Amino acid sequence: MHSYPDVQLFINGTWRDAIGGETLPVIDPATEEVIGKIAHARKADLDLALEAADKGFKIWRETSAFDRSKMMRKAADILRSRVDAIAYVMTREQGKPLGQSKMEIMGAADTIDWFAEEARRTYGQVIPSRFSGVSQMAIKLPVGPVAAFTPWNFPINQIVRKLSAAVSTGCSIIVKAPEETPASPAELIRAFADAGVPAGVVNLVYGIPAEISEYLISHPIIRKISFTGSTPVGKHLAALAGKHMKRATMELGGHAPAIIFDDADLEKAIEVTAGSKFRNAGQVCVAPTRFLVQEGIADKFLEGFVKAAEALKVGNGLEDGIGMGPLANDRRIPAMEDMIHDAVSHGATLKTGGKRIGNKGYFFEPTVLADVPTSAKMMNDEPFGPLAIVNRFSSLEDALEEANRLPFGLASYAFTGSVKTAHALSRHMEAGMLTINHNGLAIPEVPFGGIKDSGYGTEGGSEAVEAYLETRFVTQMN
Ligand code: NAD
Repeated sequence: MHSYPDVQLFINGTWRDAIGGETLPVIDPATEEVIGKIAHARKADLDLALEAADKGFKIWRETSAFDRSKMMRKAADILRSRVDAIAYVMTREQGKPLGQSKMEIMGAADTIDWFAEEARRTYGQVIPSRFSGVSQMAIKLPVGPVAAFTPWNFPINQIVRKLSAAVSTGCSIIVKAPEETPASPAELIRAFADAGVPAGVVNLVYGIPAEISEYLISHPIIRKISFTGSTPVGKHLAALAGKHMKRATMELGGHAPAIIFDDADLEKAIEVTAGSKFRNAGQVCVAPTRFLVQEGIADKFLEGFVKAAEALKVGNGLEDGIGMGPLANDRRIPAMEDMIHDAVSHGATLKTGGKRIGNKGYFFEPTVLADVPTSAKMMNDEPFGPLAIVNRFSSLEDALEEANRLPFGLASYAFTGSVKTAHALSRHMEAGMLTINHNGLAIPEVPFGGIKDSGYGTEGGSEAVEAYLETRFVTQMN
């Protein structure tokens, strides 16, 4: 039988309460019960974490990439061996069905393994000199202590990309993990500690996000920032990072278009997009939101998609057969209700869903709206919930114009039988990621990131390693 733990800070290799003894409660979104508490860090705790990260960096940068890689692979195996206990904790604090929690944890182990290997190949360059007797080299060095800020929708996955990239390259890190879903991130950190990563390399804090980010970003010890969350917060933190000349990776909001053409495999398009839409109750930055369906198949698509939404069993993620859990926090319910009310008042048709389920737990019906005008709020702001918009288009040009209308540019989806259409989309879709005829996003070896207001930098593929390295030029005369 698993249980939900109280969560401490992890600083300089030690699990500890906050110096001031303050704590914050943790709520189960399926029952609204308080299930535990977390230590709430203040400046004195952050000072200890900074000192530890500084010390940890000096040790870790001298540890060979080979040894760092070995420890990381051990951490990945530890995580896998604890998957059942951690999945229980994640589902209790975040709400997603147990199967999705297990997938997130196993995916995290895979990510750790991939970065552990990739960072062993951080090659520099030897550059031919203009002068005899001169050798010129570009060498790669870890950027330094990192501050990472991550949200509650994927408590482990949002951390593991930043943590793995930092640790694999020889950086130390302070993770400000999500206060609403704190215990599964703590288990990720524990796997690294138990694998033998030296004290100070990996540190974990919780508290008031704005207080912690302002303090850490401006602190001279921190050399790199990585943030995942909403665009307004991202812009604020990027500005702060700019003010203090810190490197930053920003993985921000999206509003993904899914374009389904007349020549698409309709059944497949419905199956793949409904799965992607309602996974994690739609609280996914890359979830498809604006379904743009070509006129010839729009009615059939809508019918099939509504059926898929209605077939989903919504309930406590710990129970068998649940396809969608509750929303992660009470803020999401009024956010959904407000957007749906606004769209209907602008002339949209509510095809299914639209309401909270019951009055205990933050459950919400999988919701589909059709013919939503661009003046509606949900056509412009990220819904971040189980809400799909199905609109029609006639030509490729119309579809692209709507897809590219918003300032976001994170994920995009398309279904078509035409190679020519696929090629045109890959050139003209304004998005950091495009997946055609399947969902192939978010695996460790491929880029993951946005353009425009969705941020900059990538958290997957070899560029993700590069983001934690600096290039030093060395020239030497014999
Ligand atoms: P929010 O904007 O208050 O917070 C979003 C995330 O940013 C949270 O994890 C929060 O702890 C963090 N945050 C907020 N202010 C911060 C600060 N000053 N410094 C450091 N971190 C800070 O909103 P919310 O109610 O938690 O979520 C609502 C919106 O956030 C969603 O509608 C969605 O657009 C966005 N969001 C995006 C992701 C993502 O994966 N990109 C994840 C969660 C939330």
